[in-house]
Amino acid sequence: MADDKMRCSFGDNCDENTLVLLKECKKDTTSHARYLKCSTEDIHIPESVLILNRAGVMGLGLSNLYKHVCLKHRNILGLHWKRNKRTYCHPLHDKSKSSTIARGVTVVQSREIWLKLNVVLPIGSGICRRCIETHKKEISMGIDLKEELKEMCSLLEKTANASNQTGDHLL
Ligand SMILES: [Zn+2]
Ligand SMILES: [Zn+2]
Repeated sequence: MADDKMRCSFGDNCDENTLVLLKECKKDTTSHARYLKCSTEDIHIPESVLILNRAGVMGLGLSNLYKHVCLKHRNILGLHWKRNKRTYCHPLHDKSKSSTIARGVTVVQSREIWLKLNVVLPIGSGICRRCIETHKKEISMGIDLKEELKEMCSLLEKTANASNQTGDHLL
């Protein structure tokens, strides 16, 4: 791996001059999450997790933080990500019924959908009120998953904030 040419892991022909490591992506995601109505009470989503999630990389292994991302993909997948206008994003959405977007998919819901249905639904995707209920009943995995995610996110954030030596040691 070490002598691999540095390239963006999220696309082809990216501008190599703008590459950064995902572990260095630590912009605040709070207002982005609030805007998309996908905040979770006590989990702060690290920018790196946001980027990985939107790219369909659902594993939260720390080695993922050593992927490179170019500025364009960092923006498109991260804080400048645009929600799909469709409201029937949720895999269990009843398409025969019309609906409006009530909320964005949270990091927890996104993970639950992936674990249970094997579908990647990016954080922030719009879902309707009915789907929020259906999700709660049929897909929600409860508090354990939430705690696990919370722990992972804060660990990732700490890693990202750590000084170089400490960060590299941890991984
Ligand atoms: Zn790129
Ligand atoms: Zn729905």
